[in-house]
Parts: sequence; structure tokens; C-alpha cells
Amino acid sequence: MLRGLMARLLGRGEASGVEFPPDAWRKLCRDQPELAGLSAEACERARVLAGRFLASRPFYGGDGFEPDDAMQMRIAGLAVVPVLELGLDWLAGIRSVIVYANAFHVDHEEVDEAGVVHHVNDLRAGEAWSHGTLVLSWGDIDTGLDPDHGLSVVIHEVAHFLDGVNGAENGFPPLDRGQSRAQWTQAFQAGFDRLNRQIDARKSPAIDPYAASNPAEFFAVLSEYFFRRPRALHHFDATIYALLADFYRQDPLARQAGRQASAERAMPPA
Ligand SMILES: [Zn+2]
Repeated sequence: MLRGLMARLLGRGEASGVEFPPDAWRKLCRDQPELAGLSAEACERARVLAGRFLASRPFYGGDGFEPDDAMQMRIAGLAVVPVLELGLDWLAGIRSVIVYANAFHVDHEEVDEAGVVHHVNDLRAGEAWSHGTLVLSWGDIDTGLDPDHGLSVVIHEVAHFLDGVNGAENGFPPLDRGQSRAQWTQAFQAGFDRLNRQIDARKSPAIDPYAASNPAEFFAVLSEYFFRRPRALHHFDATIYALLADFYRQDPLARQAGRQASAERAMPPA
């Protein structure tokens, strides 16, 4: 059963957005790895965007789950990270959000290499429905704050929506005029092939093997790494890191490095 939660949000409109408590928001900006290291100005910009994102979309709980205000704030905060420099219009395809307590079962059909259709029941942490619903498992969002571990299901599903802005979800989102389509295609294909070779050779892959499923998952998983574990992505493929930095107009690696340096400065001398 789905329950609308917007009634609890005091009816604020999209123009003004939901006002998050400043202390809670600053804590999110400081502790959540995907946001950590943002300048005070960017953190405030993210707060405004997230408030507008939340105010203009119904949030529902699935199977009796009720995401509370803090959960909704965290989801909205994560959802706007990829579009911080692109603008909220890029998320226009997301029209509602459903949050389950944990991973949820999804029935769907898959066609194998021989063309045979199989009925499959999968457990999912998130889904991006093409008609505009973002579906998430809270248990997979709330996985701790260690930037070296865990991925980011919200970023993953938002990346699928961004990928689909120009039609098919195929790992090829709309690029800026200054970005080379040929270079994007070549670099992502080479990275995708390399990851598949690592998996085929039973070497432990540098990136979550789910990325090797198809080009759309490759883009979504690499977007998770870009924002959550940029060092690991840069190590896997510096060219793809640079292309994603151009696409998202952000440099999370520099942001995390700056954060580490300021943490070291804050340490008392030994
Ligand atoms: Zn996916």
C-alpha cells in the first residue's frame, strides 16, 4: 500500500521549497560523502534545490513504510548532487518517489542471448521507472558514511534519469556542446570492455561488476563512484573520470582531497 506523505510537509509550494532545518542540513553536507567538501555556498545552493525537489514531488512509502522528514531530506539532498551545476530541470523526469524500508521484489521479463523470454523476480535496491517514478530502498541508502565503502543508490537511479533525458537509457546522456561525443563513446566503450575482461578473467574487478551488465548500468554505477568514491574511479579510469567531471561540471576528487587536508589541519599536533 502506498501512502502520500506530502500532507505533512505543510503545503509549501515549489517556488519557495521545503525549508530544511539549517543545523540538520549542515550536518548532512558535512557527513554524507556525496556532499562532503562542498563549499558553504554550494551546500546552501544544494539546500535550496533539494527543498524545491521535495516540495514538487509526492513522496510515498511502500508496504506501510513511512519515510520521516529526515529521510526525505537525505534522499532529496542526494538526488540534487548530480544536478548541482546542471540545474533542477534535469530532474523533471522524476515526478514521484516511492521509498521502501528495504530491498523490494520486482517482477519483470528478461530476454536471454538466444531470444528466450524469462520471467524473473529480482530483489532491487532502487529503480528508475520510465514514466517518472524513482523507487528506493531506505536500507540501501542508510549504509553508513564511510566514503571508501558503500555505493549510492540515489545517485545511481538519478543517473538513469539523466541518461534518459535524450531518449533511450544507453549510457549516453545529453552532452554539452563543448564535449566530444566520439571521445565519450570511445572512452566508455573501452572502460566497459576492460571491466568485462577483468570479470571474464576472474580477476577481482576494480569496479562493482554490476557495471558490466550493459552501458546504461556502466554509466549509472560509474556515476555512483564519481560522487561517492571518486578516487577509486580515477584509479580505474582517469579519462572516464575527466569526462564525468566535464558532464557533471564537478570535481569530487578535489572536494574530498580538500576535506581531508582540512581534517588533517584540524588534528592536534602529535
Ligand atoms: Zn541501474
